[in-house]
Amino acid sequence: MSDLPSIDLPGLGLLAHAMAAAERGWPVFPLRPGDKRPAGHAERRCPGTGRCTDGHRTPEQRATTDPDLLVAAWTHAPYNIGIATGPSGLLVVDLDTLKDNDEKGTPDGVTSFEALCERAGHAVPLTHRVRTARGGMHLYFTQPDGARLPNSAGRLGRHIDTRGWGGYVVAPGSRTPHGSYEILDGRPPVPLPDWLHTALTTPTTPARTSAPAVLTGKGTRAAEVALERETATVAASPEGGRNAQLLASTRAVGRFVAWGDIPRHVAEQAFQGAGEAAGLTTAECRATIRSALDWSIRTARPRPAAA
Ligand SMILES: [Zn+2]
Repeated sequence: MSDLPSIDLPGLGLLAHAMAAAERGWPVFPLRPGDKRPAGHAERRCPGTGRCTDGHRTPEQRATTDPDLLVAAWTHAPYNIGIATGPSGLLVVDLDTLKDNDEKGTPDGVTSFEALCERAGHAVPLTHRVRTARGGMHLYFTQPDGARLPNSAGRLGRHIDTRGWGGYVVAPGSRTPHGSYEILDGRPPVPLPDWLHTALTTPTTPARTSAPAVLTGKGTRAAEVALERETATVAASPEGGRNAQLLASTRAVGRFVAWGDIPRHVAEQAFQGAGEAAGLTTAECRATIRSALDWSIRTARPRPAAA
C-alpha cells in the first residue's frame, strides 16, 4: 500500500480488499457503493464508447486483476467489490439466511448444507469462507479441472445457491445497509469435492410437497431440464436485459407449473435465486416471477400427448 496516495479517500479500504482478491488471482469489478449490484451503465443505455467501443461488456468481461485499473476505479468512488467467479476458477456455495416469506421451520442455507453433507456421508468441507452482510455464508471452492460450472439456484437444497460462470459474489470488505462481508476462514479455496460436483451435474427430481400429479417420466424430465437451463440463462443475463429474460424464462417454465410437473414454490424459489444472482432486487424478481407464472397458468394449453 506504500505507493498509494496518502490522502484520505473513502475507497481506499475497499481498494485494499479489491487488491487482496486480485492477488489471489480473482478478477474483480466495482459494485454500486453500499449495494450488491454492478456499477456502471445498463446495457440498454450503453454509449458504445470507451470500454464498450466493440459492444457492451458485462461485469464478467470487465473484471480484472490489473492493479492500475483497480486503483483507478476505487480511488474514484467507494465501490463495493464483485468477484467474477467464472474467470476466477471459483465455484462458491452461497448459504442464505431465511427470508421474510419463508414458512416457519424452513431450514436456512447453513442448516440445509449441513444436512446435505450428512446425507452424503461427508464432513462439511473446510475451505475459504466469508460471512455475508445478512449473516449468510459463502464457501469458496475451485472449479473441477476442465469444468465450467454455471450458477445454480436451490439445486443443492433450500437456500443453497452456487455461483460459477455467469455469476459473481460480493467480496469481503464490501458493505450494505445490512452489514459487511467478512472473511471467516482465510485459507485458499480447496477443490470442489467430487460428491458436490456430482450433485451439481446429475439431474434431480424436483421436490414435491403436494400430492403428485400423474406424470409421464418424460414430462418430469423435460421440466427439470427446462428449469435448469432457464435459471442458468437468467443468472447469466447481462444488465439491461435481465428483467426481460427473467420474464421470458419464467414463462417458458411456467407451463410445467401449470401442468403440475414443478410445484409453483420450487419454480419461484429457483427463479428468485437466479434473478438475484443476475443483480435484480428481491422485489423486482418477486413481481416479475409472480406475473410470469400467473400468465402461464392462465394461458397454458393442455400438455401434448406423450410419445
Ligand atoms: Zn456498455
